[in-house]
Amino acid sequence: MAPRRHILVVGASLAGLRGCEALRREGYDGRLTLLGAESHEPYDRPPLSKQLLAGSMQPADVALRRDPWDDLALELRLGVRAERLDPNAREVTLAGGERVAYDGLLIATGATPRKLRGVAPLEGLHVLRSLDDALAIRRALEKGPRVVIVGGGFIGAEVAATCRSLDLEVTLVEALAQPCVRGLGETLGAVVADLHRDHGVDVRLGVGVQAIEGAGRVERVRLDDGSALAADLVVVGIGVVPEVGWLEGSGLRLRDGVVCDASCAAGPPEVVAAGDVARWHNPRFGEEMRVEHWTHAVEQAEACARQLLGAGEPFAPVPYVWSDQYDRKLQIAGRVGDGDDLRVVQGSFEERRFVVIAGRGGRLSGVVGMNRPAPVMRWKRRIADGISWEEALAAAEA
Ligand SMILES: Cc1cc2nc3c(=O)[nH]c(=O)nc-3n(C[C@H](O)[C@H](O)[C@H](O)COP(=O)(O)OP(=O)(O)OC[C@H]3O[C@@H](n4cnc5c(N)ncnc54)[C@H](O)[C@@H]3O)c2cc1C
Repeated sequence: MAPRRHILVVGASLAGLRGCEALRREGYDGRLTLLGAESHEPYDRPPLSKQLLAGSMQPADVALRRDPWDDLALELRLGVRAERLDPNAREVTLAGGERVAYDGLLIATGATPRKLRGVAPLEGLHVLRSLDDALAIRRALEKGPRVVIVGGGFIGAEVAATCRSLDLEVTLVEALAQPCVRGLGETLGAVVADLHRDHGVDVRLGVGVQAIEGAGRVERVRLDDGSALAADLVVVGIGVVPEVGWLEGSGLRLRDGVVCDASCAAGPPEVVAAGDVARWHNPRFGEEMRVEHWTHAVEQAEACARQLLGAGEPFAPVPYVWSDQYDRKLQIAGRVGDGDDLRVVQGSFEERRFVVIAGRGGRLSGVVGMNRPAPVMRWKRRIADGISWEEALAAAEA
């Protein structure tokens, strides 16, 4: 493979920045461009629903790059949106018409919040993805609003916890049977629901939102069951969709993300994708995945860097996510869902300090811990080792 001369990274956030850092670490000394649509330097998103929202962190505290930028020797272009990709010409067209040629491309454009259908914009209606979103919500929280959170996924649950820490009145509305079901399944989702109830959140489950009403600004949230919740602030956290609009018509395969092979190549070997935007075949689990978590974005960006430099190998991580709610740290590694065999191997749900392992298809497939970080990491290594469910149960007894 001829050495690359210009690697372009589109998306200046976690995966994009960590990809650039990995390229330099791996010895790439050619031209490197990192471009992103936001005007902020790359920042960390997890604090946006936690410390930054609570006011205990400031925007400067969430910067992702702490070392000098000069060490990376890259062209950082912020406030610039990629609009089109032509993989045959190896060119990305930017808003405004400029064309940027590359011989290696890392797609790291992440994801954007899903919108509630049929709901018009109103003052007091928010989503939470960006630093600007978080700062806008934080300003609104200072007025002591009645908060309704639509969507009980990790972000909705974290915002609920943060708002309760500010002593605000909070209702959490989730259309599914429990919060965090996508990551945890119903049994463990029920533990999260109880955690919030015990902290004074009005948890409404199995009910959808029919309308968000108000004259110019949010006044109430009307639910499918006919009830209405008075509200001054509504945060909608109903998931995200991958940012692939600029890749339409490029010929790359798009299906809930950029479809990649096991080495994260998105068709042509010089085009790779990482982070929330990438869907790839994870050989460890034998399934296609798109993972929307921090650690994954870093690991996949590093794998993409190696792939671009010709040292790629199948990317086979054990997905991992953490979520901080109140004084509880929830950690999940691998796959956990309804229908899995679940076994509490340490602690209990009642004390909200536990480790639960999950078995699927005769194998250890996942682990969930609450305030038990060290054992979660041990079980994560066992998942990586590919041990059977029986071996896992024996290890739990030992
Ligand atoms: C509020 C919040 C809290 C979170 N908390 C946790 C947590 O506790 N634990 C955890 O594991 N994960 C957490 N996550 C998830 C984690 O932050 C994401 O998985 C991670 O940010 C993904 O990184 P990424 O670089 O793939 O995408 P993103 O961070 O979404 O970055 C993509 C970047 O690309 C830019 N972009 C998009 N389209 C274009 C374009 N056409 N041209 C140029 N630039 C473009 C975007 O503006 C954005 O800056 C949280 C996320 C949020 C929003």
